[in-house]
Amino acid sequence: MTIKLDQTPHKVQANGHPESFIFHRSQRTKPANIISGSGIKFTLDNGRTIIDASAGPAVACLGHSEPRVAQAVMRQMESLSYAYSMGYTTDAAEDLAAHVLHNRPGGLGKAIFVNSGSEATDAALKLATQYWIEAGRPSKNQFIARKQSYHGNTLGALCVSGHESRREFYQPWMSKNVTFVDPCYAYRGQGSDETDAQYLQRLETELEETIVRIGSDNVAAFILETIPGTTLGCVPPVPGYLSAMRRICDKHGILLMLDEIMCGMGKTGKMHAWECEGDFRGPDIQTIGKALGGGFVPISGVLASQKIFDAIAQGSQTLAHGHTFQAHPNACAAALEVQKIIAERDLLGNVAARGEQLEREMKAELSSLPHVGNIRGRGLFWAIEFMKDPAARTPFARGSGYSDRVVEVAQGLGLNILGTLGHTGEYHVEHVIISPPYIISQEEVSEVVRLLRETIVAVDQEGK
Ligand code: PLP
Repeated sequence: MTIKLDQTPHKVQANGHPESFIFHRSQRTKPANIISGSGIKFTLDNGRTIIDASAGPAVACLGHSEPRVAQAVMRQMESLSYAYSMGYTTDAAEDLAAHVLHNRPGGLGKAIFVNSGSEATDAALKLATQYWIEAGRPSKNQFIARKQSYHGNTLGALCVSGHESRREFYQPWMSKNVTFVDPCYAYRGQGSDETDAQYLQRLETELEETIVRIGSDNVAAFILETIPGTTLGCVPPVPGYLSAMRRICDKHGILLMLDEIMCGMGKTGKMHAWECEGDFRGPDIQTIGKALGGGFVPISGVLASQKIFDAIAQGSQTLAHGHTFQAHPNACAAALEVQKIIAERDLLGNVAARGEQLEREMKAELSSLPHVGNIRGRGLFWAIEFMKDPAARTPFARGSGYSDRVVEVAQGLGLNILGTLGHTGEYHVEHVIISPPYIISQEEVSEVVRLLRETIVAVDQEGK
């Protein structure tokens, strides 16, 4: 039988692009068509060039073109294009794992590579669950997570995500075995008469009481983002927070899982965001993604401590989880090249230097604008939180659309930043994220800040 091909010419849209057959997330607006990228900029099909000041959603750490990564993938494809990693390994996967884990950060000594952050979260949740089964304590299968958190969009990852609008259609699927505690969000969560120490103590007590209420025999792990990104906007933990959470977890025999999919792999100027946290000794399980492959390929990972691995290696000897494309050689080859480039060019040094400049210039240029409430972050991972009345700490009402408008106006001025993504919980946080590629120059940082100021001033003018 011959299949008759549809010869109907594609309907041409206003921008000259054939009718879109992609089911885009939002049907309210038509997405601009990106046709190429170079350095920290990308170009649309109408010829406009945009500075990507958020590196997509904190992904494109090397910017939008890097011939070395393309060559590395080509070399890999020419020698071996695919291997089913359930039964085989490859040099590409082994070399990437060895590179990421070379100094066993915080005792993390084994890696699983999958394809997206959400898959990494699911794998991490399963790993923690299986660990306790192998350790002979199968009742430890509940999780504690934080409100207004985001760990991914698959059903497993959503179960531990506090992001309300992403969960709401799927409530019947959401596990009852997850309990949410307050995030560490001093700007709005700390009482005006509460000292830093009292605030920390309150969060510590809440976690401990939650564990005791559920029963430590029933809790597998506490999962949290080291620096929450999309839901709260780049909020670094208050000093001592991670160590305090670690102490409570250790006291009650609970695993600590850190999600560094967005904030990790160099964004803070350290390879892992938790390395900025004083004497914190590291998590039991950690997820990584986004800047691992820099967006050249889909790849993410789960890092596990030796204790987790040993329990499985000495027990059933099989992780009850896997995907067709896990540890894909092409993806691993690309990610390894990205990580080598970061190391060889000392891009973490650039993240630290340009991050200091970004903080200094944003605070100098933007702090006095009428709706700028809080500028916070680390390295090149920053957010601006907007408030209706910053002095009185009055937030914008849900649906105000302030940050959406900032994103739109910025795009019109040639600047890409990331806005508030839906309704995330009790605190309505109007924010934008600025997390440029690690290769950004001094002049480009100043240009980003200049455009941010122009954008926010223009949005405020509209409201008058
Ligand atoms: N975890 C965090 C902290 C994230 O920010 C994201 C995505 O934004 C995810 C998990 C999910 O990653 P992905 O979109 O690659 O599935």
